[in-house]
Amino acid sequence: MDYRDSTEEAEYRATLRAWLTENVPAKHDDERTNAEMAAERLAWHRKLYEGGYIGQSWPVEWGGKGLSPTMDAILNEENGNADAPSLPAMVGYIGRALQMFGNDEQRARFIPPTLSGEIQWCQGFSEPGAGSDLASLTTKAVRDGDEYVISGHKMWTSAGQWADWCLVLARTDPDAPKHKGISAFLVPMDSAGLVLQPIVLANGDPETSEVFYDAVRVPASALVGEEGDGWKIAMTTVAYERGPSDVGAISTLNKQLASLERHAKATGATADPRVRLELARAYVRGEVVRLVALEQLSSRATGKLVGEEGSVAKILQTEASQELAHLALELHGADIVTGRAAEVVGQYFQTRPMSVYGGSAQIQRNIISSRILGMPRS
Ligand SMILES: Cc1cc2nc3c(=O)[nH]c(=O)nc-3n(C[C@H](O)[C@H](O)[C@H](O)COP(=O)(O)OP(=O)(O)OC[C@H]3O[C@@H](n4cnc5c(N)ncnc54)[C@H](O)[C@@H]3O)c2cc1C
Repeated sequence: MDYRDSTEEAEYRATLRAWLTENVPAKHDDERTNAEMAAERLAWHRKLYEGGYIGQSWPVEWGGKGLSPTMDAILNEENGNADAPSLPAMVGYIGRALQMFGNDEQRARFIPPTLSGEIQWCQGFSEPGAGSDLASLTTKAVRDGDEYVISGHKMWTSAGQWADWCLVLARTDPDAPKHKGISAFLVPMDSAGLVLQPIVLANGDPETSEVFYDAVRVPASALVGEEGDGWKIAMTTVAYERGPSDVGAISTLNKQLASLERHAKATGATADPRVRLELARAYVRGEVVRLVALEQLSSRATGKLVGEEGSVAKILQTEASQELAHLALELHGADIVTGRAAEVVGQYFQTRPMSVYGGSAQIQRNIISSRILGMPRS
């Protein structure tokens, strides 16, 4: 593939860059609460939509522009370069699941407001006893006339407190083999019987939550696809979640690396050849992530569905981010405990759960070894 912009892409990039210069909100010096940051991300989502930049690779019939996924990658990259609030990630995977598995009524009802930011989503897959082994989930949905009654306990429902709707996996057939008895439902977060309890992470961020479903009633029309399709829908959703969409993360990594290099030069740390080597390694890791993401995006542009190769992008991106954050901690020395390097500590804590959410690093390696490399499972 050719990694350079085509003429059309270069023009698009220039127009977008100018738009971002005009529109990216000013940075706040004061510390923002989690709710303020969520509101800022939502306002940015809506602004991008009004500017015509959300849903570029989505079919025109659902409010998209029908362009190549490369345009989304350019948006992602330039958004990161411009230090703008992050892009609405769930549009890229829950939105895709709706597009691929929803019926016409569900698509018409949910996709346009999902693209525009009127509807915010969360993902209710994991449970206390079902994370890596998701197929062991025990939340159940029982048909009762024109409704399903959902009961169970979900863990790690990220952004649940800001979401309007949740894509929930529940067991509809307890007698079927465990992967086959699962179904997917669209559940309003303000349903009677649904109780959300935020989980505070190590960085003090209550971004994720546990959610209790106590006989939550949803209409039968909340079922996505057929009963028993839940596993297929979940695997497609996580493949898009792990996939190469986040090229913009590389811009963030590059900025963090540039700032670390400045710090290392200013403190004389670059006199140590090991530090120079580690900085060079961090740069190379970032470039590898960028090229792998671009390669996967270009194969997506040919119409290929996202699959196991998303696990490769996820592992590389996780390692690049975690190792850079670790190096930054090392180079800031005592400042990390005095509070003078609070941002570096914040970045470090932000990178830690990357090797868990969206499927743990060990599970990604299992996928790569068995499904890409064809190695035996035992
Ligand atoms: C910050 C954060 C946000 C999240 N957001 C969401 C969300 O929005 N929605 C959602 O549904 N879930 C979410 N998750 C859940 C996430 O997908 C799970 O935590 C993850 O899949 C791991 O499951 P678990 O926590 O149950 O750990 P376990 O499955 O119990 O795993 C524990 C350890 O054992 C290892 N392990 C387990 N099985 C194997 C195996 N077969 N081979 C090798 N090693 C193995 C794992 O790699 C891990 O290191 C989030 C998690 C975090 C931390």
